[in-house]
Amino acid sequence: MTDTLDDLLSADPHRIWQASWEIITTRDIVLLEDLRAALPTIRRATADVELGGMIRPNRDALDHALRKVRDYRSWRCWCDDYPRLLAFSPDREEERGHARVLRRDLSGWPATYECACAVCGRRFGVEEGEHHALWWRWRASRTPRPASSSSGRP
Ligand SMILES: [Zn+2]
Repeated sequence: MTDTLDDLLSADPHRIWQASWEIITTRDIVLLEDLRAALPTIRRATADVELGGMIRPNRDALDHALRKVRDYRSWRCWCDDYPRLLAFSPDREEERGHARVLRRDLSGWPATYECACAVCGRRFGVEEGEHHALWWRWRASRTPRPASSSSGRP
């Protein structure tokens, strides 16, 4: 049993919260597959735990984490998840080697970033905001489509 799974099954709100964020930031396929196999058990073990949360409900983090475990196989790339959650700091993603910050503009409000996924190269415009805590909204940049892909529908 992985430590993360152990945490999720612990019924301890703090451990569940930590495990949720570990899942949200991980790219470890072995871990995700282990958890995927245990999803029904995890859902049962966490359903009735009062998770709390001061600013954002901790239940949201757990739900996001479990959706990732369930769906990540169908993602085109890890960066599919960036626009879905306001919690990915461009600087931290760069430190992790997941993204590159191509440009930062911290002079105005909101602060903005231009980032590129380190895996697939997709570009994102990122807007930083603050509501009790910092958040970051990622939007995929519009890129010109090659002519061949616009010719027909599947
Ligand atoms: Zn990507």
